[in-house]
Amino acid sequence: MIIPEQAAIFCGGLGTRMHPVTHKIPKPMVPINGTPFLEYLICQLKENGIKEIILMTGYLGEQIREYFGDGEKLNIKIQYSHGPVEWETGRRLFEAKDLLSDHFLLFYSDNFVPFSLKKLAQFYDEQKKLLCFIVKAKTTGNIRLGENGAVEIYDKTRTAENLSFVELGYMLVDKCIFQYYKDKDISFSDVIAKLVLDGQVAGLVTNDSYYSISDSERWKLAEKYLSPKKILLIDRDGVINKKASRGEYIDSWDKFVFIQENLQAMKTLSEYGFSFIIISNQAGIGRNMVSEKMVESINEQMKKTLENEGIKILNIYVCPHHWEDNCFCRKPNPGLFFQASREWFFRIDKTFFIGDDPRDCQAAYNAGCRSIFLGKENDLNNLSPEERPLGVFKYLDEAVSVLVEQ
Ligand SMILES: [Mg+2]
Ligand SMILES: [Zn+2]
Repeated sequence: MIIPEQAAIFCGGLGTRMHPVTHKIPKPMVPINGTPFLEYLICQLKENGIKEIILMTGYLGEQIREYFGDGEKLNIKIQYSHGPVEWETGRRLFEAKDLLSDHFLLFYSDNFVPFSLKKLAQFYDEQKKLLCFIVKAKTTGNIRLGENGAVEIYDKTRTAENLSFVELGYMLVDKCIFQYYKDKDISFSDVIAKLVLDGQVAGLVTNDSYYSISDSERWKLAEKYLSPKKILLIDRDGVINKKASRGEYIDSWDKFVFIQENLQAMKTLSEYGFSFIIISNQAGIGRNMVSEKMVESINEQMKKTLENEGIKILNIYVCPHHWEDNCFCRKPNPGLFFQASREWFFRIDKTFFIGDDPRDCQAAYNAGCRSIFLGKENDLNNLSPEERPLGVFKYLDEAVSVLVEQ
């Protein structure tokens, strides 16, 4: 499997939709909590193992170069390919050709979405296409995906039927795409369109939210999302309270017994400024063994008790379904993680999930977050290396320092 170590980023556009701020600065330099948007992208690439970045600059490119230099400050190698403002995106990439590796990541610098380079590289490897990009479901999209992930239609005008995805400007590209250039003065979306006609593009679907600096309203949301937060995701049964016996469910408040060691750790973490979001499977509801109302009432009382201890619970997300329902919200599926991220504006890739079941670790992996496992090493024998938690502990108090340092 090829895992590229190089990324090229389009940084040359005028950013007219971001006026007036882009009168004076190029769009990638738009500040997010005082740090240029582009820096978030570069850090994300670095965290994914990228070693070298090519910034394809145009409009006010000197500001970008002055700020990032050779990348030493961010501990990554940065090179530049600069050209006139008039160049189309396709031309910009074409002119950077000599700097490019055989396989490279290609980013537009206006969206941000958590991604895993390993997952994208694996998809690219399976698909055997010249270009794979990350797509997200959207009712007014520009892409139609086939069942296997192949892009069937790529329509800039968004007029074709069943265009239910958009691409997010995160691409993995084979350098052979230059064969599709007849004329170098072309926009890169026209290059993509040609590749699609030749069956050379596939889309990897993300369920995560994406943020953008394409206009000032979205810029504010991106800022909200990218500002660091101290949020921990945590399971309920077996972590906060003692589990019911096998095949049984906590069906009354009397049966709810806190695990004192973990409660103490939650208190300590709260003193460090963390808040909690609970994500819990409650198949007892789907199996008619406990009512939804009862689960809600137990959770309400739990929340009150925790808050009296100074532990802040932002929200409690529950999957009420039977495992036979095959819902997207039951762990190991990651649906509730994405919902929580959307509602609380936190980056899943910067967050931990604390659980006591191997499925908790799988759900975390599927959502793109890291996990802490409370239990025994032996319980994890069926996990793949990628699904493994960052740490295995008996009680949460042993994990406090790991969580605080991250
Ligand atoms: Mg549990
Ligand atoms: Zn569910």
